Amino acid sequence: MSATCPASLDWPAIQTVVLDMDGTLLDLHFDDLVWNDALPSTYAARAGLDLPEARARIRDTLDRARGTLPFYCLDHWSAYFDVDLHAIETRLAAHVRVHPGVQAFLDWARAHGLALVLATNAHPRSLARKLALTGLEACFDHVVSAHPLGAPKEQAAFWRALHERTGFDPARTLFIDDNAAVLAAARAFGVAHLLAVSRPDSHQGPLEHPDYHSLESFEVLLAAAQDALGQRAATSS
Ligand SMILES: [Mg+2]
Repeated sequence: MSATCPASLDWPAIQTVVLDMDGTLLDLHFDDLVWNDALPSTYAARAGLDLPEARARIRDTLDRARGTLPFYCLDHWSAYFDVDLHAIETRLAAHVRVHPGVQAFLDWARAHGLALVLATNAHPRSLARKLALTGLEACFDHVVSAHPLGAPKEQAAFWRALHERTGFDPARTLFIDDNAAVLAAARAFGVAHLLAVSRPDSHQGPLEHPDYHSLESFEVLLAAAQDALGQRAATSS
């Protein structure tokens, strides 16, 4: 059963917060528009298919690559489908949105001396576009794309490389993501504190993450953190 209680996190133990980008910091609706709307319609027109057939072909092709680095590579799929995904992302840029409460949580975390790491499977050019649109980069000590590291977050090699690059202590790190396979890889590496985003796409219903505590919103997370640390100050005096 999924637990929905960020208040149960051991906040005094947490030194570093590692956050995913798409679906966690940012509303996944943008990616839904790119991959499930603009790509199929453009590909259908180019390949002379009807829209349901184009959707099915894209879905089957993407499913076979799920969990690998090429799955997240815009250059790979742009060439494969003969559709410029960078141009599509640029055209739809007005739909890039930061989830409510993210900025306040990041500001609070910085003010409390927590190290902040953005760790994403997003393609470096997509990452750069989204950072430029949102201004989020200034909030982070490290911004890391999986692509130059040569392994996606689903694989142990990513976590070893992230650890080498940032020096985070897994036992004192909170990791937040909307992908269960990625959370499992972080857990296997030893990351002690994990939260699964329950509503990565504001246009879709909540997801079940039976193996992880669920994060409903960053507003709830910030309130829980403030309560936990406030209570700690009151009881340790
Ligand atoms: Mg994500």
